[in-house]
Amino acid sequence: MKLCVLGSGSKGNAVLMQSGTTRVLIDAGFSTRAMSKRLAAIGVDPRSIEAVIITHEHVDHVKGAVSCAKKWGWQIYATEGTRGASVGLDEADTRSVASNGSIDIGDIEIRTVATSHDAEEPIAIVATGKPCGVRAAIVYDLGVVTGTISKAIERVEILILESNHDGEMLRNGPYPAMLQRRIAGREGHLSNRSAAIAAAASAHRGLSHVVLAHLSEVNNTPRVAYETMERGLKRTVFHGQITPAPQDVPSRTFSADKGREFSAAQLSLGI
Ligand SMILES: [Zn+2]
Ligand SMILES: [Zn+2]
Repeated sequence: MKLCVLGSGSKGNAVLMQSGTTRVLIDAGFSTRAMSKRLAAIGVDPRSIEAVIITHEHVDHVKGAVSCAKKWGWQIYATEGTRGASVGLDEADTRSVASNGSIDIGDIEIRTVATSHDAEEPIAIVATGKPCGVRAAIVYDLGVVTGTISKAIERVEILILESNHDGEMLRNGPYPAMLQRRIAGREGHLSNRSAAIAAAASAHRGLSHVVLAHLSEVNNTPRVAYETMERGLKRTVFHGQITPAPQDVPSRTFSADKGREFSAAQLSLGI
């Protein structure tokens, strides 16, 4: 199971995942041209992608979905709420997915989990690579981590989690009070601190990567987000890597090996 964040933030989001021979994209928040450029940068032919799952109707997640799907033959999946609220998506060939459901696409099994965000029917994704059993969660655009979300991310090997803003930077920043309240609210965006608490609660020895997503360019910096997460995970069993995902270029590739946990156990047993 491999993942690459093609870009993340308020200017556009897309995450590519691959297991076996199946490639699925989560969100298509870039224009066809930008998507083509980013995929070329990581050596992926857009036609090799089978499907795109849209998490919600905000433009930074849906912008290129219809045009890319048409151009490269991707199947679009979205909840009924997202589909109805997106201009263009409601007329495209879209398959419906429940907000707490599951879909099977080739070598990837996908679970959808409802999130708390100011959109019609937003979802987070937990994907399992069938050949390897590795699990990855993509959880962004949420105001709070609900019980359902924290349960869903419990045993994942790769966690892509929103770390949108630093609370103090938001309060002291240039945004008007109303926008500040919206961002910090229950249906807004996750703070660095809330992300660190959620990641710490889900930390286990098999957690290889915590990828910080949807960083604000105004109320956060990659360093502040990284340090908050590092502090949050310090007293846990986590010994993986923390990486802030960039907005302007694709991230590195994140992969995990389910065998890691077993080899550690074998070592401690002396076998
Ligand atoms: Zn967003
Ligand atoms: Zn959003």
